[in-house]
Amino acid sequence: MPQVNLFGHNRAAEDCSYLENAINEIEDYAIILMDVYGDIVNWNRGAEKIKGYTADEIIGENFRRFYTVEDRQLKKPEELLKKAAETGRAQDEGWRMKKDGSLFWASVTISAIHDENKSLAGFSKVTRDLTERKANDAAKELYTEQLKAKNKELEQFVYIASHDLQEPLRSVTSLTEILEAEYGSLFDEKGVVMLGYITAATNRMKELIKGLLDYSRLGQNRQLAAIDCSKLLEEVQRDLEFSLTEHKAVITSTHLPALQGYKTELRLLFQNLLGNAIKFVKPGAAPAVHISCEERVDDFLFAVKDNGIGIAPEYREKIFVIFQRLNNRNAYAGNGIGLAHCNKIVQLHGGKIWVESEPGQGSTFYFTIHKF
Ligand code: ADP
Repeated sequence: MPQVNLFGHNRAAEDCSYLENAINEIEDYAIILMDVYGDIVNWNRGAEKIKGYTADEIIGENFRRFYTVEDRQLKKPEELLKKAAETGRAQDEGWRMKKDGSLFWASVTISAIHDENKSLAGFSKVTRDLTERKANDAAKELYTEQLKAKNKELEQFVYIASHDLQEPLRSVTSLTEILEAEYGSLFDEKGVVMLGYITAATNRMKELIKGLLDYSRLGQNRQLAAIDCSKLLEEVQRDLEFSLTEHKAVITSTHLPALQGYKTELRLLFQNLLGNAIKFVKPGAAPAVHISCEERVDDFLFAVKDNGIGIAPEYREKIFVIFQRLNNRNAYAGNGIGLAHCNKIVQLHGGKIWVESEPGQGSTFYFTIHKF
């Protein structure tokens, strides 16, 4: 068997043995030295721990025995040695076999060793057992897939349910209209009031169903684009002009960044947050809203701060769930859908949304947009 001096030719013999001892003691890495054919010439404690062979059992054997039958048939060990000989290094991750025949997931680096004439003298091979990480990754992947499938199923359910609910609702609406047009004069005062309640209730149901449908469709045709958020905010302010003037609202902002995102959805996000900041104002007060943004390493952190009625701590998570409202509809109109939309939009952007607030002191809605 060709002898390989693995610790360099300029070192004193005692230096070499010191280093050799140190390598032998390493337990978390299998560090193996091989000759040019892949026959094992040195075997450390880590190799014994990971692969199960003692040095006596394995020295002189070929490293191909660690590979699965399929990998051997595919000539993977030979390919890796060839690559290491040609380029100096070969890396691989894959299943390897222990002495007892069980498999472990290995991360392997094979490096070529040359003698003083620059001729190939052998290889070093460092192996790490990543079975646990591999199992964690696989479990995470499975969980993500299951979650995705469940989400899709739920969205389909919401879509179908809300779509099918429209049909009977249409019948109720048109029958009520006919009732009012053809028999309205026959109703006494109480009857007219009741008819009014039916119409109001069906209109509300129509809005709720529309909200559900919009929610399930949100982001379906999303397209990633470069968005100038300052411009987007100007557009949203133009859309809300009537309401801003009516409430004498003052909107201020710092310079907002340009980023990659889904424009229609982001616009809706700003629209909902600004709309709420203007709507949930203390009686008699004029809304003052400030929008700011901080660029961070992986994302942008936006803040929409208002001087409104605020939100009690126990409701700060609940408000992001669809149809959840805290206030009387007569005092503040709405369906409880806006923040659920915001939550979904932020999630589509890989971010989070939350609120910090003091009742009576205003609220600050924070959301992050991940950098694509
Ligand atoms: P909607 O505005 O239609 O009621 P949202 O989903 O947008 O529905 O909001 C849910 C609830 O969260 C609101 O009904 C309100 O109670 C509370 N909320 C939202 N934004 C604010 C705000 N800026 N200030 C105070 N309360 C708010």
